[in-house]
Amino acid sequence: MRQEPSFWEMYEWYLTDSYNAVEHWWQHSLFVVLFLSVCFLIMESFLPKKKAYYVITRKGFFVDLVYIFVYDFLLVFLVVFGLDMAITELIGKDFIIFDLMSLSYWIIFPVIFIMNDFMNWLGHLLLHKVPILWKFHKIHHAQEELGFGSTRHFHFMEYLIFRPLMYIPFHFFGVPPIEYMVFQIWMSFAFTFLSHANIKLNWGVLAYIFITPDTHYWHHAKNTPNEDNVNYASILCVWDQIFGYFYFPKEEKVEPELGLDNDDTPDGFIGQQIHPFKNLLKKG
Ligand SMILES: [Zn+2]
Ligand SMILES: [Zn+2]
Repeated sequence: MRQEPSFWEMYEWYLTDSYNAVEHWWQHSLFVVLFLSVCFLIMESFLPKKKAYYVITRKGFFVDLVYIFVYDFLLVFLVVFGLDMAITELIGKDFIIFDLMSLSYWIIFPVIFIMNDFMNWLGHLLLHKVPILWKFHKIHHAQEELGFGSTRHFHFMEYLIFRPLMYIPFHFFGVPPIEYMVFQIWMSFAFTFLSHANIKLNWGVLAYIFITPDTHYWHHAKNTPNEDNVNYASILCVWDQIFGYFYFPKEEKVEPELGLDNDDTPDGFIGQQIHPFKNLLKKG
């Protein structure tokens, strides 16, 4: 019987062999993130939406580089591999509801795309609606100036617990963690880089179908247009449209003021990681 690799063997592979295999660069979040960063850096330089700041003079730009390094290099694969193994350990590998991977890629791709996007939308809504989750998600919303790197500016609990949980349904559909991650880093990463990027373009009808900076910036508004907040989408706006959270003031030229009212979130990476725990202790 073939011996399953251990968790650490898998992570060692991720850090060493796989990184040496340049031809597989597209499977690895750090390389993809670096590639996307260069693309968006160029676009932000030529097409800025908010002109009060420039790519690297944006408040938080260098903190966001720390976020990118810590999350994309160290954490992302670690947690998804870990979760896959934990589920296998607890329930057994054979327990798969339906083996999606046995179908044609023409079916696999749209099914994963829709499932993944809905899970991300629902998860994001819960991060706002469940008070304890909001304490952690607030770190993302405390940003007063947005750029492509802001997409990685999340508390580590979201990466350790919330995001890996999104993988659970995929496990039961037989999607291996590596395929899931490759899908994530190309589809979800590309769109979340776009939705935070400081770029101005006329999106036309696309702004009603896909998330763009025009709609996601309203999600980050200091005074959101309705008290439930708006535009929770990761990729498709359809979920917001169906459940009444879509907001796109086409006529308004005014840009939203970003951030949170009366916010005391620290500016540094470590301070931001500790902050929600301090708040939890303070309020009992
Ligand atoms: Zn949010
Ligand atoms: Zn955001």
